[in-house]
Amino acid sequence: MSVASQLSVVKSTLPEGVTLVAVSKMHLAELISEAYGAGQRVFGESRPQELKAKYEILPKDIRWHMIGHLQTNKVKYIVPFVSLIESIDSAHLLEAVDREAAKCGRTVDCLFEIHVAAEESKTGWDYAELREFVAGGALAALHNVRIRGVMGIATNTDDKSVVRHDFERLAQCKADLAPFFGSEFDTLSMGMSDDYPIALECGSTMVRVGSMIFGQRDYGAGR
Ligand SMILES: *Cc1c(COP(=O)(O)O)cnc(C)c1O
Repeated sequence: MSVASQLSVVKSTLPEGVTLVAVSKMHLAELISEAYGAGQRVFGESRPQELKAKYEILPKDIRWHMIGHLQTNKVKYIVPFVSLIESIDSAHLLEAVDREAAKCGRTVDCLFEIHVAAEESKTGWDYAELREFVAGGALAALHNVRIRGVMGIATNTDDKSVVRHDFERLAQCKADLAPFFGSEFDTLSMGMSDDYPIALECGSTMVRVGSMIFGQRDYGAGR
């Protein structure tokens, strides 16, 4: 099936108000153009240099989301144009984004990535540490970032009850943090190709879908 038809299949399963991030990492710009031609405007990438290279050659009304682990020394590549950084996993990284954003005269929208999966390897904040950071008031000093919500990745397993548990935990974390923020704290980014229907049942407002739209990732394209 074509990218356009896969895209419309996915879109037909999303409730109104849920944002679809088409995860285009490791896919060539031609495939992104195909999705763009079918009306898609929000794309997700996991590597800063790849994201910047695609930004430069593709239409400027695309809203680019950074969804992968971000090193502080790479922040400068994406801050001038990125629409949402979904993968803020430390205070150090958030401060780096704030600094670069100030240099560009921008306010950059961010999500806290929270570690909820069983695997140690998955990235993200330990929730207790994140809560301590937020409750401690350190955010008040950061004027060039705006926290929009939380993001997370469920355990990679066929056991749907485990996946559901992870998503429920993430939804709880967001609800627990909400009192520290205003109405702009409205985003719960969870769900990928294999598990987004469960994420939607648990209250997801943003799904990040890659392979179901673009097929198998072309490892030659992005590395
Ligand atoms: C790659 C990736 C996705 C998309 O995964 P698919 O299984 O291809 O849908 C979503 N979120 C993050 C953080 C990713 O790295």
